Amino acid sequence: MSESLNTVVDQLAALAAGQTTARMLTEESLARVAATQGSLNALISAVGAEHALAAADAADQARASRQAGPLSGIPYAHKDLFCTEGVPTTCGSRYLEHFVPPYSAAIHERISQAGAVLIGKANMDEFAMGSSNEHSYFGPVRNPWDTERVPGGSSGGSAALVAARVVPFATGSDTGGSIRQPAAFCGVTGFKPSYGRVSRWGMIAYASSLDQAGVIALTVEDCARVLDVMSGFDTRDATCADRPRVDVDAALEMPLKGLRIGRPRQWFGSGIEDGVAAAVEAALAEYARRGAIIVDVDLPSSEYAIPAYYVIAPAEASSNLARFDGVRYGHRCSDPKDLNDLYRRSRAEGFGHEVQKRILTGTYALSAGYYDAYYLRAQQVRRLIANDFARVFAEVDVLAGPTSPTVAFKLGEKLSDPLALYLADINTVSVNLAGLPGLSVPCGFSEGLPVGLQLVAPSWREDLLIGAGHGYQQATEWHWAEPAAGARP
Ligand code: GLN
Repeated sequence: MSESLNTVVDQLAALAAGQTTARMLTEESLARVAATQGSLNALISAVGAEHALAAADAADQARASRQAGPLSGIPYAHKDLFCTEGVPTTCGSRYLEHFVPPYSAAIHERISQAGAVLIGKANMDEFAMGSSNEHSYFGPVRNPWDTERVPGGSSGGSAALVAARVVPFATGSDTGGSIRQPAAFCGVTGFKPSYGRVSRWGMIAYASSLDQAGVIALTVEDCARVLDVMSGFDTRDATCADRPRVDVDAALEMPLKGLRIGRPRQWFGSGIEDGVAAAVEAALAEYARRGAIIVDVDLPSSEYAIPAYYVIAPAEASSNLARFDGVRYGHRCSDPKDLNDLYRRSRAEGFGHEVQKRILTGTYALSAGYYDAYYLRAQQVRRLIANDFARVFAEVDVLAGPTSPTVAFKLGEKLSDPLALYLADINTVSVNLAGLPGLSVPCGFSEGLPVGLQLVAPSWREDLLIGAGHGYQQATEWHWAEPAAGARP
């Protein structure tokens, strides 16, 4: 990709001005895949040059006949949990290694209709369970800033692809931070919309009451443009809400002056690295210089967010993953003795260790006798967390703090300590428990590694995140920083 054509907005402008073609952009993207796949392992599968170039040519023809859609000719990748008709969809799992969906996810329909060109399916933690992308059956993804380090997870492939300038945007899903945390670790922008903003139809479920599709790109403006295409009512997802569209153009114009930003004390607690705290405080100071008002606030129930999340998410996962039974689709063991043997061995062989662990803990939490002690209690905590947010949003417009308490850690560093890995999500999971929209924008570096600033708004107020995030990116350059590793050809 040429230096000036890294973003969706720039590519669209160049296409409209006839300075490039969808074919040229797609060829460049394919060349970037070839140059980076060996070092990053960010894709699980590529759709193939022939297929991608045919879609690019169709986009060029549509533009020539003035039928171009809002993303016509823009190359992109899907996290590999969005079903794509005729294109393998693995969810990072051996269980679905050979699964080719007979239908497409709602967001794939929308993005294809808008004219974007699918390059491939991005690597991810198996069934979106993880924060480091080390739980993929297809091997870990590496961070383009330092290939000895993790890219974050579970949408690590999507974040690495955008950071390495392979594609200008990639889709992701966020159940407890899986868009925002990898975006932070890879120095790119990640946007998780309000629960219900984007249809989950055709997105392989992890924890249905928390899962939300979103996008990773270099800038807030790009994220907003893509989300505008992805969002909208869909009768096939009963939790998809019929809400008015966000006025993206108006949101991008929002002044920072007078914006009330809450700084939750609990997000700056113990465990936060000094370099991360310093970068985030500098970002808040930048906001203050631009006329925003910074107010300290309290979210006292946040300390219970991780335990509540790690009861609710596995409980829902244990139920969602019951459909993988070795009978209907996906992995089937060979020569089963009887039906129980078929279930047992198909699941034991098809699911990795982390997924099995979560199915077990989830099943336990839901079992008669323990339901009240664990699941019900976690749901009560969830309500307290949502109430905390509602209270502070009576005082402030948005909240700001570190997306993650640390920068990207080394591969293998936390694998033997699952609790440490779960704590990587400490600032993001409460946002999912409350169903709120959240954004991570690059805000500096600590020891050469990117730091993310998390912004959170009340439900359906994506406009505030777009305004606050874009305003910050107008004033700063962090989102343009480009990793050297990932090796440009
Ligand atoms: N890291 C969290 C988990 O493992 C969040 C994952 C996600 O958002 N999909 O559950």
